[in-house]
Amino acid sequence: MTVPPPAAGAEPADQGGSAVSGVDLVGLLGAVAVSANESRDPDRALHETIRHVCDFTGWPVGHAYLVGPEGLLAATPAWQAHDDDSIDAFRTVSDEVPLPMGVGLPGRVVADRRPAWIVDVASDANFPRSALAAAAGLKAGFAFPVLVGRDVVAVLEFFCREPVEPDARFLEVIGHLGRQLGQVFERERATADLSASEARTRQILDSAGDAFIGLDSAGLVTAWNEQAEAIFGWTRDEALGQRVADLIIPDEYRAAHDDGMARFLATGEARVLGQRLELSALRKSGECFPIEITLWAISGPDGWSFYSFARDITQQKAAAADLAFRALHDDLTGLANRTLVVDRLEQALARGARSGLHTAVLFVDLDRFKVVNDSLGHAAGDQLLQAAGHRIRHAVRPADTVGRLAGDEFLVVCENLEDAADATRVAERILSVLSEPMDLDGDHVRLDASVGIALDTALVTTAADLLREADAAMYRAKEHGRGRFEVFDERMRDRILNRLRTERELLACLERDELRLHYQPIVTLPEGRVVGVEALVRWQHPVRGLLPPGEFIPLAEETGMIVPIGTWVLEEACRQAQIWEARGCHGLTLSINLSARQITQSDFVKNIAAIVEGADLDPGRVRIEMEVTESLLMADPEAITATLAEIRNLGVSLAIDDFGTGYSSLAYLKWFPIDTVKVDRSFVSDIDTDPRERAIVQSVVDLGHALGLSVIGEGVETESQRAELAAIGCDLAQGYLFARPGPADTITPLLLRG
Ligand code: C2E
Ligand code: CA
Ligand code: CA
Repeated sequence: MTVPPPAAGAEPADQGGSAVSGVDLVGLLGAVAVSANESRDPDRALHETIRHVCDFTGWPVGHAYLVGPEGLLAATPAWQAHDDDSIDAFRTVSDEVPLPMGVGLPGRVVADRRPAWIVDVASDANFPRSALAAAAGLKAGFAFPVLVGRDVVAVLEFFCREPVEPDARFLEVIGHLGRQLGQVFERERATADLSASEARTRQILDSAGDAFIGLDSAGLVTAWNEQAEAIFGWTRDEALGQRVADLIIPDEYRAAHDDGMARFLATGEARVLGQRLELSALRKSGECFPIEITLWAISGPDGWSFYSFARDITQQKAAAADLAFRALHDDLTGLANRTLVVDRLEQALARGARSGLHTAVLFVDLDRFKVVNDSLGHAAGDQLLQAAGHRIRHAVRPADTVGRLAGDEFLVVCENLEDAADATRVAERILSVLSEPMDLDGDHVRLDASVGIALDTALVTTAADLLREADAAMYRAKEHGRGRFEVFDERMRDRILNRLRTERELLACLERDELRLHYQPIVTLPEGRVVGVEALVRWQHPVRGLLPPGEFIPLAEETGMIVPIGTWVLEEACRQAQIWEARGCHGLTLSINLSARQITQSDFVKNIAAIVEGADLDPGRVRIEMEVTESLLMADPEAITATLAEIRNLGVSLAIDDFGTGYSSLAYLKWFPIDTVKVDRSFVSDIDTDPRERAIVQSVVDLGHALGLSVIGEGVETESQRAELAAIGCDLAQGYLFARPGPADTITPLLLRG
């Protein structure tokens, strides 16, 4: 029979001669309360409670279960059993057979969450151990839950050797005991949760990429994660409790650190808290290294605590330094780049102005470097440049600056020179070290160089002037044969000034309408019938007269003026073509020269389309052909080919100009969408005297025909050249023999005559 505890406020049931009615319930409650309060360990608390209950009630047997998952009861070693032997079997089964929720006395307590009482367990239907209990002489039994909130965490059961009726008041009191005992479990649970969360926190901090350091207000280490161990070299055990200043702060910063902490503690003023700082730190090894840290303070019951995340930024610093180095140096040779050379030169000039000593710039250009690069390959070329840079570096004083500009051009800035002779001695040294043979993976290469020297004088004061002068002197050295140096002089200055003036004038030539187009006829072989003209630009210079394109086209290409000039040429040629068309010319081809700089303009095709379509020429009468040089095609064949195809779509035909002077082979001819090949004058001029040249022209003609192209021989000056070309089968010819280039009105009669 199980008795529920009385409802709150109900009078205790009068159970007459109950064996528990005389128990000192207050004493029992007090005793359990004391042990529950003092005990941090649930096992001990269970033991002590069993002991107290047995003592106060005089019941001989007491035992505790813990409640596991799903309410399953597992026996604990907490037993009180006064006459041991007799209950051995009962005890063994109680220990070994776990009871499910709802089964037996303790199972019912778990299910109902309240005390239960059985007057005689030996005859109770829901008491699986009844036979053993009978054998052990046990009769009455009660049990109560240990509650944490609404969870039953343990059950205590007690037995005596008489049948005893339940006592409601007693049951109420032991209900309290259960709750009191629950507090021990609750505390234990909380500390378990806490240490789990501490372990989790530590795990997080350990797996953090940064060092985590905690300090107390005295500056002693209270936290030190694995990253801190790795970065600073001190283990957690070594670090905890030590002064952080002694561990990781370099000597020279310790005082500042102590002051900062003291100031913060005294005034709450902190310059560094919450900021990202870069500092120097110390490893255990004594090595100093850069760190980035953030620091914050937390006030707690024990005063202030400080925490910081720190990260080793040695690598970032090195990368930043590397980046800064690379911004001012040449990747290949490690020498200064142009920016740094100019900067050093400016400083040297400023110092020279004070000291009265001179500064020289030496412009060193390797001769024949392109040949090596083309024949031995880029890797060898790079190796050669590195070796050359190294040799130059060691041929000059350490204080001198050595730099590399693009390609095979080096610059040397020499300071504190007495006169020009000092600079020429440096140039001689450089030429001599470079001329010693170099071993490039077994290939022995000798390098020559041309050196241009410019010395600061009263006339030049800027770095840019000096560099330009050294450049000009270097070109002069090359002109005079290689492997030599040249010092900049007044005549060179004149040339530079002329060039600058021409540049300015060229900018204005279009506005001033100074450009002219001349035309040179192209004739058939062998008949000599005029079937085309090539437009050749001239500059009617106000002072220097009519200038051929060689005098200004290179400069126009360099400055970009070639773009508007090219547009003007095309417009002017189209205008002339309309005139010729109107005057009844038939089957005329008008050839126009294009520069690389024009064709690589992004809107080039669009622009010429507008002009050509605007001219509205009858293709049966006048056809436009554009000439591009072979070297232009070879620079970027894929991109150029695409552009050429677009040009051809406009109904404009295409010719390769100066064929044979570039680097391409005949085989390349078939790759480009072209109509005509123009064999360079250099082949034509020897065609009647040199059988090899004749053979070359012959093969160009044959291949051209095989590909369906027409072939023009350029620069025909003599009758025998004309005869040879005709014999070879060349379709067309152009040259002084037939006509020199001239203004349209001198050419028109030739066209009308046909
Ligand atoms: P190019 O395209 O090879 O033009 C042929 C050059 O050879 C012309 O020189 C012409 O006068 C010259 N020539 C023709 N027949 C003979 C001959 O029998 N003997 C000799 N010695 N020379 C002959 P020019 O007019 O001085 O033009 C030189 C170069 O300037 C042209 O070479 C062309 O590359 C460039 N050029 C001319 N006009 C233009 C233009 O409008 N735009 C561009 N981008 N370049 C142009
Ligand atoms: Ca041409
Ligand atoms: Ca040509």
